[in-house]
Amino acid sequence: MKTLVMKFGGTSVGNAEAIRKTADIIRSAHTDWPRLVVVASAMSGVTDALLKGAHTAAEGDAAAFRSIARDLRNKHFAALDNLLKDSALLQKPRSVVEAYVAEFESLCHAVNVLGEASARALDAISSLGERMSIQLIAAYLNSTGLKAEPIESTELVVTDANYQSANPNADLTRAHTQARLNPLLDSGVVPIVTGFIGATPQGIVTTLGRGGSDYSGALLGVALDADEVWIWTDVDGVMTTDPRIVPAAQTLPELTFREISELAYYGAKVLHPKTIRPVIEHGIALWIKNTFNPSQPGTRIVRDNGHGGVIKAVTVIRGQSMLTVEGRGMLGVPGVAARTFGAVAHAHTSVSLITQASSEQSICFTVPAASTPTVVTALQDEFRRELEQQNIDAVIALENVVIVTAVGAGMRHTPGIAGRIFTALGTHGINVIAIAQGSSECSISLIVDAKDADEAVRAIHRLIVS
Ligand code: ASP
Ligand code: MG
Repeated sequence: MKTLVMKFGGTSVGNAEAIRKTADIIRSAHTDWPRLVVVASAMSGVTDALLKGAHTAAEGDAAAFRSIARDLRNKHFAALDNLLKDSALLQKPRSVVEAYVAEFESLCHAVNVLGEASARALDAISSLGERMSIQLIAAYLNSTGLKAEPIESTELVVTDANYQSANPNADLTRAHTQARLNPLLDSGVVPIVTGFIGATPQGIVTTLGRGGSDYSGALLGVALDADEVWIWTDVDGVMTTDPRIVPAAQTLPELTFREISELAYYGAKVLHPKTIRPVIEHGIALWIKNTFNPSQPGTRIVRDNGHGGVIKAVTVIRGQSMLTVEGRGMLGVPGVAARTFGAVAHAHTSVSLITQASSEQSICFTVPAASTPTVVTALQDEFRRELEQQNIDAVIALENVVIVTAVGAGMRHTPGIAGRIFTALGTHGINVIAIAQGSSECSISLIVDAKDADEAVRAIHRLIVS
């Protein structure tokens, strides 16, 4: 029988009204998919609040976490009271929420006494949001007559002890998940599983990293050999661009794995590639859908298929600086690039785009604006001698630039795309400062002045939707 895993994000379970919509979606899916697993995030804002409690406690504040605890209790109780009118049904979820709020307070108290929050403590604390939200969803579904059972994924997802970004063990996760969930699924019960969290083989709680619930959905899909995984969020799938820049932006019906990876890398708000790789590799159909607009089909993510639209989406990373290391003395000298990026790495900065002219007289790359002074200093230190001897003329920072990236797997089979992009930008009087093409030939990135950012996006978007 076919199996479906549906993951709901924080806004989809963020209050009573959203939980009702989510429950409607679950009930209607269950009629088509008797084997249905739900993975849920914490209510929106809860993970942030839990972590804030931990951090303020570590910094010596013994009061903030107490007031956060009150807010968390109120938020969950308010939703429960709104969802469940029958006091008998309220009892269990209320007492579980109460117990977890108490656990939050005692963990924060311990952190406060120690004056330090270890990664392990942070995971214990931040895991509590999902452990509370599943209680609300399951209790409400049961009250509507659908049999649902809250399950903590500490029982399912086995990870290493790399707290805050734990790595799952696929074989153990498969074994535990099948053993625990198959009996429920066979009897038509819908497991409501915590996203985000797992446990070490010794049973200590871990988390998969911020935003990790998508990953949980994917892991369970693979562990159960599911036919489909649906990620429910608060947008209509993946769009051709940010609709705030281009109101005519459209939802993409289909994207390949590589395209969505490029988009995620270049700042579009989509799934993390790590999340979806296992699902795609196992040939499981993956959809991104909107809880608040469920009649829309959303976006389907498919294996790389070598065809499809030429330019599919355009995205922008703002707040960048372009750094250039320049000098005639660099020609043919090995190691300049390695030293340049070594210095950048030492400044704890990640580079988003690199280009080098084949004359080898300059290396050019972008870093976030905030890191510019540190990186420039690091480069000047690294190349002190070359600068004195004028083998390197200068380390130049050009501030207030953005990276505009056009993504589309079809580009690799279509000549002239870069030309069309340049023509479109030229027609609008936009100067391209530098260009880089992804080696997969699946994206072209341009550096333009920040003042041209929106116009550049609009000009390239017209090449998609015209
Ligand atoms: N609740 C977790 C977070 O806020 C995980 C998730 O929502 O995906 O990061
Ligand atoms: Mg998310």
